[in-house]
Amino acid sequence: MTELRVAIVGFGKIARDQHLAAIAATDGVALVAIVDPHAVHPGLPHFATLDDLVRSDVSVDAVAICTPPQVRGAAAAAALAAGKHVLLEKPPAVGVSEVEALIPMAERGQRTLFAAWHSRFAPAVEPARQWLASRRIKSVRINWKEDVRVWHPGQRWIWEAGGFGVFDPGINALSILTHILPRPPFVTAAHLSIPANCAMPIAAQLSLSDSSGLPISAEFDFRQTGPQSWDIVAETETGSLTLSGGGRRLSVGGDVLVDAMEAEYRGIYCRFVELMSTGASDVDLTPFQLVADAFMLGKRETVEAFEQ
Ligand code: NAP
Repeated sequence: MTELRVAIVGFGKIARDQHLAAIAATDGVALVAIVDPHAVHPGLPHFATLDDLVRSDVSVDAVAICTPPQVRGAAAAAALAAGKHVLLEKPPAVGVSEVEALIPMAERGQRTLFAAWHSRFAPAVEPARQWLASRRIKSVRINWKEDVRVWHPGQRWIWEAGGFGVFDPGINALSILTHILPRPPFVTAAHLSIPANCAMPIAAQLSLSDSSGLPISAEFDFRQTGPQSWDIVAETETGSLTLSGGGRRLSVGGDVLVDAMEAEYRGIYCRFVELMSTGASDVDLTPFQLVADAFMLGKRETVEAFEQ
């Protein structure tokens, strides 16, 4: 099989923690270059900017854009203009319309544009969708609470405009929610707690529903110390489903149906290879739209300043 040559753009935490190993473990792709203002990887050509890579004699077929979201849209547009397939980390850009503008660019150039929602590739997510598909759901509760100092140490961009604050992890819950529910959810109310020295929320509570009136609540909080929670609980007429560990474990009543190691990024790269083989795109903006709507609807409360 011919390997597609991939460059990682933005060589920070997620690129090192997940993308490196996933590319190495996936047939059909090979990592050939790094684009980052400073970070390098031994043995690979390094470029400070995407323009530098495009002008170089290093050939790449695709880029995986793992920068902070504020610069992702512009990088994706430049990569598509240069004829590269594009994988977008989540959130796919800073706004829904910015990603929508990329879709016709990809179509015109017959390149793949893939908005990757990594949590959807967690092992218990698809089984949860299947279990729920044949049941009447009575309510859904999301509890997505983590310690920002542990998971995002020193990341100033997350607090700046376009950094999403607590929606950076919260959008993962929404990407699962929009995958497992039979009908599309929408936001009916939101409350955003914004530190006095930040542009983005440190906590958020959302109320959502769907066309059947399903009550859905979501609590996102970056101030969680002690046990962390990435849980979704759905009450149905035939029992309670719990998806925990960010989509790694599924239990129904007391019975554990799935408890597996995560292989989310392997799943992402397998999908990327499949899409690139035909030049097809996969851009589902429904989780992103929910975040945009929460910002649009949300009542703001100023809370204690956040210090790293
Ligand atoms: P990070 O550690 O801050 O890494 C971002 C990297 O991108 C940094 O090395 C940064 O360099 C570089 N960068 C900034 N502007 C760039 C540009 N114009 N061109 C090329 N590189 C640029 O952030 P991260 O945690 O990896 O997160 C990156 C994205 O992945 C976010 O959207 C996040 O939501 C998503 N994600 C993160 C995780 C996680 O666990 N961390 C999990 C899943 C998805 P400088 O630092 O020098 O600016």
